[in-house]
Amino acid sequence: MITGRFAPSPTGPLHMGSLVTALASYCSIKQAGGEWLVRIDDLDPPRQDPNAVNAIIRCLTAHGLHPDRPIIFQSDHAGAYESALQKLAPNLFYCKCSRKKLRAHDRYPGTCREARTPLPDRAVRVLLSDTEHGYCDGFLGSVDGNFAAQLGDFIVRRRDGLISYNLATAVDDGNTISEVLRGQDLLPVTAPQRYLMQLLGLTAPDYTHIPCLEFADGTKLSKQTHAPPLNEHSALANLRAALGYLGFQAPDAIDSVGILLNWSIAHFDLSQIPTKLPKYQPS
Ligand code: GLU
Repeated sequence: MITGRFAPSPTGPLHMGSLVTALASYCSIKQAGGEWLVRIDDLDPPRQDPNAVNAIIRCLTAHGLHPDRPIIFQSDHAGAYESALQKLAPNLFYCKCSRKKLRAHDRYPGTCREARTPLPDRAVRVLLSDTEHGYCDGFLGSVDGNFAAQLGDFIVRRRDGLISYNLATAVDDGNTISEVLRGQDLLPVTAPQRYLMQLLGLTAPDYTHIPCLEFADGTKLSKQTHAPPLNEHSALANLRAALGYLGFQAPDAIDSVGILLNWSIAHFDLSQIPTKLPKYQPS
């Protein structure tokens, strides 16, 4: 079974950059006859906006992007993440380094690698091996995965107990999702996520990282860069614009969201997406 997902963090409303990625993922999966899921990555309460979950769901619905199964919430999976941590135990260590201390290093210097028994008030890190974790990306082709050199032993549970995005995503994507299509801003987390899936004995999905939508000055649209929220009442125009950024032009005569989505599924073609998207133009 082909299964894909769109996995927004509920830090704010969706913007045009989110729609571009959601639409590409939706079309790619639907064209292959698969199931498209929506997962809310709600594991970081301090960064979350309490209204964002409802706003995201309403916005996807207005744009006709209905998931094939009930919406998944990472906050419901605490048990699965704890079991994963237990499984990973032989590869974990317990780090007491402060952020301040680590700021001087490009990557984790391995200071606490010997602390192999669980201790409270410590961040939990995974011990990296020097092996390559490269893979073949659906959009970018061969990707170098030598993240041991770039990143060092990375955190799987923060000192305050929060499960890291990488661990949660590895647990939720492994064995369940067959194709992850997302923005190239997430390329650096792919090797760590694949490594965790490998340690956990989970099958990793295929990955496709498409370019991110940027403002004229080259910054990525995001909540931090104040990307304007999508107006749900202009769903048809928004979808047309998203298709345009991806390199597709739907016939002007199409006047409904459903018909436009069907057209998009039929015409979607990864090889038509430009390596750099046209710059964002506010409507
Ligand atoms: N939740 C992450 C985000 O919104 C993305 C998750 C993913 O696609 O892996 O940036």
